[in-house]
Amino acid sequence: MSRLRTLWQEAYPLLGMLGLATAAVLVVSARHGPWEAGVLLFLAWSWAASYLRRQHQRQTFLRESVVQLQETVDRWASGDLEARVYLDQEDPLDPLAHGMNRVAEVLKERTEDLREDKKRLETILSSMANGIIIFSHGLTISLINQAAVNLFGIEEPEPVGRHLLEVIRDVAIEDALLRVTRDAQTVTLDWSPAEDESRVVECTIAPLYEPVGGLGAVLVGRDVSAERQVNRLRQDFVANVSHELQTPLTVIKGFTETLLEDSPDPARARHFLTLINEEANRMSRLVDDLLALSRLEHHSLPATMEAVALPILLDGILAKLDPRAKNQGLTLINAVPRHLPLVSGDPDLLSEVFINLVTNAIQYTPQGGTITVSALVDPARHLVGVSVEDTGIGIPQAEIPRIFERFYRVDRARSRASGGTGLGLAIVKHIIELHHGHIQVRSTVGRGTEFLVFLPEYVGKGDETPGKEAEQVSPRGGAT
Ligand code: ADP
Repeated sequence: MSRLRTLWQEAYPLLGMLGLATAAVLVVSARHGPWEAGVLLFLAWSWAASYLRRQHQRQTFLRESVVQLQETVDRWASGDLEARVYLDQEDPLDPLAHGMNRVAEVLKERTEDLREDKKRLETILSSMANGIIIFSHGLTISLINQAAVNLFGIEEPEPVGRHLLEVIRDVAIEDALLRVTRDAQTVTLDWSPAEDESRVVECTIAPLYEPVGGLGAVLVGRDVSAERQVNRLRQDFVANVSHELQTPLTVIKGFTETLLEDSPDPARARHFLTLINEEANRMSRLVDDLLALSRLEHHSLPATMEAVALPILLDGILAKLDPRAKNQGLTLINAVPRHLPLVSGDPDLLSEVFINLVTNAIQYTPQGGTITVSALVDPARHLVGVSVEDTGIGIPQAEIPRIFERFYRVDRARSRASGGTGLGLAIVKHIIELHHGHIQVRSTVGRGTEFLVFLPEYVGKGDETPGKEAEQVSPRGGAT
């Protein structure tokens, strides 16, 4: 129907003109005769023919331009924004083509900006320590960063486009996500992998308003394992300190009250005072150890690293502790070689390490036992090792990793009876770490224990070859 109308609109002026020409011919032929009429008719009809031909050419031209425009739009739609359309200047569609080219130019710039923004966002997301997962409506993952993959231990090679439960099989997270998308409120929960309860990921899930399809959600995961462990340790520590202080305080309080109320005879009173004094000493040792630990932990101890001659330092310590060993019926053997490389360290702190280890050996070795202190050199790693070996009660294998924890004792009653604070080995470990050394323990229950302390050799200023012997510089032997 519309085609017919177009045809009529195009032919209308032509037919009008032909009608007029025919009328003129009729008038002319009535006045001048058939020849003139024939010429006029020929002219009229040839003009009509040329008009029709021009119209046809114009139509063809227009059709080609429209096809060009169409093709260009198709290329843009398929993502090729480089495509442009160029028409003849005479073409009536040329201004439209210019306009379209300008639109394409703007679109290309905007798309590049968007691509840049996306790249920037991806870089930020991938460099973040926190895990980020964006869920579309229906809990389908639409974006995830590497940190989230690592935090949740996701093995799925292509998580994007998958449902949450296909990737993280945890109904608690699913419940939380459903709540967030239903109530549009932020939810926080802790997540731990089934195989490792000590790893804790704190998940904060917030609603995400998506342009289509309803509410989505964004999950931010943060590894809080270390934080939680520190909190737990802090709570345990406070509980332990309170407990450790409470026991001597109860004893002191009890005996003081008895002394005040009963006025016992001088011998009994003296006995009570001795016990009070013992407990006060225990408390004092505990406070001293706690302060030492606290200073070590904050690295605020002025650890003066200097050349330390271990043979001299150990001689002093062993000489001081020998009477105590003898008192308990033990033999203390000094098997430290006279010539050892100097080590780098703070002599006072290093003394504390060896006093602690030898005192422990004395405490935990029954009468008749032997304690041997020896040393060895690890030239490949520029380390000097000191071994404190006893023939004592030993430590069960399962307990060995825990003995460096604060207040950890294998046998609490025995440790208390011998006046131990349970902090000695924690202090030892801290001091050795401060010296960039390490400590090893070998033990067999009922046969004995060996603590092996490795310390780095001393490197003098401008001297890159460690291993100078004790006599070559004037080292300090330590404070004993
Ligand atoms: P304590 O003050 O109780 O000795 P430490 O921190 O020095 O505290 O030691 C922790 C625990 O390690 C001790 O309570 C003891 O059970 C164990 N231990 C340490 N040294 C020895 C050793 N030489 N032989 C056997 N057990 C030991």
